[in-house]
Amino acid sequence: MEDNKAATGIDHPENDPRFTGLNVNAGVSQPPVVNPYLRPRRRQQLPSAADLVEGILKGDVTRLAKAVTLVESMAPAHQAIAREVIEKCLPHSGKSRRIGITGVPGAGKSTSIDVFGLHVLRNGGKLAVLAIDPSSERSRGSILGDKTRMEKLSVHPDAFIRPSPSAGSLGGVARKTRETIILCEAAGYDNIFVETVGVGQSETAVHSMVDFFLLIQLAGTGDELQGIKRGIMEMADGIVINKADGDNIDRARLAQAQFRSALHLFPTPPSGWTPEVLCYSGYFEIGIAEVWDMIDRYFSFVTQNGYFTRRRHEQARYWMYETIDSELRRRFYENPQRAALITQYETQVLDNRLSPFAAAYRLLGDENTPVV
Ligand code: GDP
Repeated sequence: MEDNKAATGIDHPENDPRFTGLNVNAGVSQPPVVNPYLRPRRRQQLPSAADLVEGILKGDVTRLAKAVTLVESMAPAHQAIAREVIEKCLPHSGKSRRIGITGVPGAGKSTSIDVFGLHVLRNGGKLAVLAIDPSSERSRGSILGDKTRMEKLSVHPDAFIRPSPSAGSLGGVARKTRETIILCEAAGYDNIFVETVGVGQSETAVHSMVDFFLLIQLAGTGDELQGIKRGIMEMADGIVINKADGDNIDRARLAQAQFRSALHLFPTPPSGWTPEVLCYSGYFEIGIAEVWDMIDRYFSFVTQNGYFTRRRHEQARYWMYETIDSELRRRFYENPQRAALITQYETQVLDNRLSPFAAAYRLLGDENTPVV
């Protein structure tokens, strides 16, 4: 190496301009874009409330769907438009039968909604199928999932199927569904189904927005009445036992008798209507007309005795207070300064330097609360 340096005056062979070991070749030229006409996507402009309302009142499904998307959005700009649309649609809403349908997963809700829906649509009119299902993976934007669940309805021109809004708490999800009902009614949907999975709290939310609450049950385990929360049965205006087909018919009838006698133990509901228990088969389409006759009878009954209007008034009141409650809570926790203060007070509470009550009152703005 020393000899080399002495000979060339260059300390490393690779620095020698004659060194050809590391040639850098010209790279390949950049390939053209696949679609030469592709332009960067422009941000879509938000539709105006007036345009959406006009479309909705004409029954335009595209604009209805757009408005529902805004209702479901958390973005403040979207919510502002959604609120305006809801207000303008409100005078055109209210003229539908709102029917809640619940049942545990596998009870046959999708199959039944498909056939019930077709049955209803045979008499004309339009049907919207909405859902409240905050827990479901299925609801995460999977419209396809819901479309395949209700095969026949999903291709029916007079049916509008919308999966559950996915974001947020149960209360939030339920409120969005309730607002979507208003938009659907303004768009001329005179039958609204609201589906929920019968495993938790969502029944109460559905009950607070429908006129008739249908509970789908299964027979066959011998202890049907166990595991059903008393509250859910009390809310039901009708109980229907699905899969009453094949060798399951006898078990379904037995379950029917059990439910009937269990219902006798409950006081008469405020509607004055004694809930009925029927057997049917969604899959084989047996007993569908009977289920619907029962629902028709219920509507005539409560329209005549005034309960229909009373229930709607109660529901409107419920949603007013529910919205106040949730908004107050949101505004309280959203404030970043308060969030810091909450953490600070929490530490003090845990260190026994401040009582939980004093901390709460102070956070609520009552500075005079003494430190306990
Ligand atoms: P969901 O989870 O409540 O929506 O229930 P599905 O409608 O998806 O039904 C669950 C399973 O029960 C499916 O395999 C259906 O084919 C089946 N099923 C639904 N209705 C009936 C019925 O009336 N009779 C019978 N034998 N099977 C049914």
